[in-house]
Amino acid sequence: MSFNPKSDAEQEFVTTTGVNVVATFEDMGLKEDLLRGIYAYGFEKPSAVQSRAIVQILKGRDTIAQAQSGTGKTATFSISALQTIDTKLRETQAIILSPTRELAVQIQNVVLALGNYMNIQCHACIGGTSISEDIRKLDYGQHIISGTPGRVADMIRRRNLRTRHVKMLILDEADELLDRGFKDQIYDVYRYLPPTTQVVVVSATLPHDVLDLTSKFTTDPIRILIKRDELTLEGLKQYFIAVEKEEWKFDTLCDLYETLTITQAVIFCNTRAKVDWLSDKMREANFTVAAMHGDMPQKERDSIMQDFRQGNSRVLISTDVWARGLDVQQVSLVINYDLPLNRENYIHRIGRSGRFGRKGVAISFVTKEDIAILRDIEQYYSTQIDEMPMNVSEMV
Ligand code: ADP
Repeated sequence: MSFNPKSDAEQEFVTTTGVNVVATFEDMGLKEDLLRGIYAYGFEKPSAVQSRAIVQILKGRDTIAQAQSGTGKTATFSISALQTIDTKLRETQAIILSPTRELAVQIQNVVLALGNYMNIQCHACIGGTSISEDIRKLDYGQHIISGTPGRVADMIRRRNLRTRHVKMLILDEADELLDRGFKDQIYDVYRYLPPTTQVVVVSATLPHDVLDLTSKFTTDPIRILIKRDELTLEGLKQYFIAVEKEEWKFDTLCDLYETLTITQAVIFCNTRAKVDWLSDKMREANFTVAAMHGDMPQKERDSIMQDFRQGNSRVLISTDVWARGLDVQQVSLVINYDLPLNRENYIHRIGRSGRFGRKGVAISFVTKEDIAILRDIEQYYSTQIDEMPMNVSEMV
């Protein structure tokens, strides 16, 4: 795994005063077997958010951490959770909630990999899977649960997930969790936890109204935040293609197909029906594409994810179910077939490429009606989105 940490000057953090920067994993006072897992996973030095947030979280205070996509937030809270649990006690001690099943599974895998030498039990508690299997795993005893709010709340209510020993609750992609339909389920989970539970709130985007909401779940939190205009990702080039009309998007996409397959690409549409429609139409035109959205059975979603992660499929058409958190390092191109319906999802979608400082390109198709929305995104993030140049295939 290549490592290219940004210097402090390049990545300025707005923090509550007193947040120290710890330059190496050794200096964080981590357990030996955890440290071994971190190095074996290929990490050499902590990223900017890791070097600030991990030791902060380990001090036990509620923490709100915001940093760009692909800068190592998942590892930040995974390492913190692993350090906090007592492996000898086979009871759930940390719960990580995230908005999609795929993300919950990805987090589970990161926890298991980093905790590879710790004899750790980490279960993904997600909807669309067998409840009896969940019960079996929970009865066996799980140190860390990574799950989606509905299933986790359900398991707690059934008392299969015992919360007495929980020390840490992590809300990943917190704005999505608190903003959408999940709020009640999060609260359901929260009220079952011991009052001493430390809460860690993480996201690349935290709009003000959501940040206010976090005060319901946190007590005197320390905040590690970056400014909005630093949120667009360095090394990630953003372009648009003016397509005039909706009907022209399809031909434009076909023209780009070769570029899409240079490494791997994700194409975003705004609805599940459009994902189905576009993938059918691409296949009719003899292009190979994979498609995924939330209406599909979980088994199918799993196998599509696996194929894409292994590089067997290179072009994936999806909805915003794929916008947040998913980490496939080979993705170097993101296409907004439709512009996203909110500003935050623009940042999350384009953040699927250019992971951890790699090269990446995002291309948005804009119709006449979309131009104002594109300009709004540009202004909101103080970024520049230019018309796509001819040599784009050299950039991915
Ligand atoms: P985020 O959660 O901020 O979107 P991730 O934690 O998914 O970012 O990290 C993005 C990618 O960078 C992942 O592939 C991860 O394995 C890698 N990565 C994270 N931290 C480091 C590190 N310290 N050294 C090397 N690679 C890292």
